[in-house]
Amino acid sequence: MQWYEFHEEPSGGVGAPNGMKKRLFEIFEGWCDNVLDLLDATEEEAILRRDIYDRTPSFTWGKGRVTLLGDSIHAMQPNMGQGGCIMAIDDSYQLAGELEEAWKQSVTTNRPVDIYLNMISKYEESRRLRVAIIHGMARMAAIMASTYKAYLGVGLGPLSFLAKFRIPHPGIIGGRFFMDITMPLMLDWVLGGNSEKLEGRSPSCM
Ligand SMILES: Cc1cc2nc3c(=O)[nH]c(=O)nc-3n(C[C@H](O)[C@H](O)[C@H](O)COP(=O)(O)OP(=O)(O)OC[C@H]3O[C@@H](n4cnc5c(N)ncnc54)[C@H](O)[C@@H]3O)c2cc1C
Repeated sequence: MQWYEFHEEPSGGVGAPNGMKKRLFEIFEGWCDNVLDLLDATEEEAILRRDIYDRTPSFTWGKGRVTLLGDSIHAMQPNMGQGGCIMAIDDSYQLAGELEEAWKQSVTTNRPVDIYLNMISKYEESRRLRVAIIHGMARMAAIMASTYKAYLGVGLGPLSFLAKFRIPHPGIIGGRFFMDITMPLMLDWVLGGNSEKLEGRSPSCM
């Protein structure tokens, strides 16, 4: 079993020797038993701390006959349950498909093809929007995770005593309602990947 905890703070920090678990208990003070039990069951040596970065999305993926794929052009935060580096694999699949098409065209017409116009630009065009949307969603998930407020009163200064009463934060209720409606559609689109291009593959994750 593996778990993640996201916490917004300046990069470059290191965990105090033998102090990681203690710090996590401080951060998660007041959370439900499921979270605290998980922390309790985790050995100090098994806890790793990493800075996570992403980069501003770029709509220019390459120049002429040179293009990029994977993290070299769209490194993003690992928040979307993509599994197996799907964005990089999808890029490769699309690139290989476009190369095959360009090759077929060249064989059929018995003429050389322009590699930029017939292959690279098509690859970039077909990937750019989907990647940009998933990049944005990965950022949004990070913001949601790091600004999550379980109870009313958290961050309200003099009213912060309200947190003791565990009154759910209105954002949680609104968020749940929104998620119930949009999450299945969103996950279908995110996890379905390039399925329409993969013969025989189910259009969504079952
Ligand atoms: C902590 C963490 C957790 C993650 N969790 C997930 C997850 O759960 N699911 C998921 O889908 N993704 C996850 N990712 C993201 C995923 O690992 C990357 O999206 C993926 O590895 C990108 O693949 P890539 O081939 O584009 O780049 P990389 O995997 O970075 O491969 C680039 C390769 O190029 C080599 N290289 C660099 N410079 C040169 C050079 N000059 N000459 C020759 N070789 C060079 C590097 O050594 C490296 O082997 C996670 C990433 C991190 C850091």
